[in-house]
Amino acid sequence: MNNKLVKEFLRSKAGPNAYPIAKALNGGKTDKEVSEEVGIDVNKVRTILNRLHYIGVVRYDKEKAKRSNWYTYTWFLRADRVNELLEKTYGEELEELEKELDLKRNHVFFKCNNGCEALPFELAYEYNFQCPNCSEEMNKSEEGNTQEIEERIDEITKLLG
Ligand SMILES: [Zn+2]
Repeated sequence: MNNKLVKEFLRSKAGPNAYPIAKALNGGKTDKEVSEEVGIDVNKVRTILNRLHYIGVVRYDKEKAKRSNWYTYTWFLRADRVNELLEKTYGEELEELEKELDLKRNHVFFKCNNGCEALPFELAYEYNFQCPNCSEEMNKSEEGNTQEIEERIDEITKLLG
C-alpha cells in the first residue's frame, strides 16, 4: 500500500482522498471511524467508499442494530483486487512505455524552434529539414532523451515485482 503508484491509482479512480481512506480501512472500519481517523467529513468518506466499491477494491459487511432499523456498515479493503487492478493498469502502461523507449532509442529526432512536433530523421529528411508546419529549419532535438521514460519504467517494474 505504501507505494506512490498505489496512491496515484486510487486517486485517479476515486478522488484525492481515496488513498488515505482506503489505507485507514486496515482490518475493517465503519465510515464514521474512517472519518474520525482521517479527519474528512463522513459524507465525503461515504462518497469515496462508494466509488471504491464501484471498482471493487472495497467490500462491506452490513449489520442491523437489534432494536432499531439502522444498519451499520463495516468496510474492508480487498487487497487482492487492488493488486489485480494495479497489474492491469500499470502492465498496460509499461508496454506502451517500452514501445516509446524503443522508438526513441532507435531514432534521431529533428524539430524547428517554433515548438512544432518533432519528426524522426527519416521524415525530416523527406521534408528537407524544413518544418512541414511552419517551414522553419529543423535541427536535431533532444526528443531522444529517455530518462523520464526509464524512470517511470523503473517505478512500475518495482511495483509489479
Ligand atoms: Zn515548425
